[in-house]
Amino acid sequence: MPLDVTDSTLIDGKAIAAQVRAEVAQRVVALRARGVHPGLVVVLVGEDPASQVYVRNKDKAAVSAGFAVETVRLPASTGADDLLEVVQALNADPAKHGILLQLPLPPGLDADPILRALDPTKDVDGLGPANVAALWRGEEGMVPCTPAGCIELLDRSGVAIEGARAVVIGRSQLVGKPLAALLLARNATVTLCHSRTRDLPGLCREADILVAAVGRTDLVRGDWVKPGAAVLDVGINRGADGKLRGDVAFAEAREVAGKITPVPGGVGPMTIAMLLANTARAAARAADVPWDELVVAAPGA
Ligand code: NAD
Repeated sequence: MPLDVTDSTLIDGKAIAAQVRAEVAQRVVALRARGVHPGLVVVLVGEDPASQVYVRNKDKAAVSAGFAVETVRLPASTGADDLLEVVQALNADPAKHGILLQLPLPPGLDADPILRALDPTKDVDGLGPANVAALWRGEEGMVPCTPAGCIELLDRSGVAIEGARAVVIGRSQLVGKPLAALLLARNATVTLCHSRTRDLPGLCREADILVAAVGRTDLVRGDWVKPGAAVLDVGINRGADGKLRGDVAFAEAREVAGKITPVPGGVGPMTIAMLLANTARAAARAADVPWDELVVAAPGA
């Protein structure tokens, strides 16, 4: 069944991401007017085909939002010391406000020491230990892009987070854990589920906000969804037919959910939008420009 974007149960991630990107582009204009040109550098090691596509899309989006963009491409044979040197040079370059290490790194190259070496104020993926600590301590820092995008989708779709029962399936560093921290910081009551959780369907049925970030097609069935719940599907799975599918059995779940994201066109587009937002914020902070001063008046206002 084709998606009906006028359906009020659908959370249109494409439209919301376009809105966020337009707002970021306005802030970039305002920053450039003050002599600050926000710069993003993506470090790509090796030839992983999916990473190549992601990096190309990030580059394109960043250029169209007015950023200065560079991709540092390194061969898969790059050693840890050489990669560290590259990151240290980027840390020291004042024109680079955001540094993104494209993951996964090639086999044999450990991301952990590289993430530790990243200047936390430039770590626009929020994966380094200083930013992870800041998130759990409730301090200001860089928030990982996909979970930040999930919160933005809820906020811009009018889903109340405070006091809600939230169930997050998946406990990765990239999505599940930081999303649980963000929901908790917004006063949701959070249950973080994983592959060894008992009675996953029963827990999901209690959720006002249900997020699936697992990587298993159709794991979440329609009868796992509480009537009226908001359902965010982070999963990206490629079916045998080549089509992208989420972790939620969409046709079943949309009959029960109050709000639901499709795949594609839901959470996915938000990741790049939030990367741009994080980079613009990093540039504003580096230049001591208050973020709220960067709002550009609407035409004719
Ligand atoms: P991951 O493989 O690191 O983590 C998967 C998590 O799912 C683990 O915590 C595991 O315990 C849990 N899990 C596995 N099987 C389970 C089961 N049967 N029941 C309950 N929990 C189970 O994955 P990730 O990096 O967090 O990514 C998850 C999914 O989200 C993938 O499909 C990935 O492609 C997608 N993703 C999408 C975006 C985006 O921009 N939309 C960004 C990152 C990841």
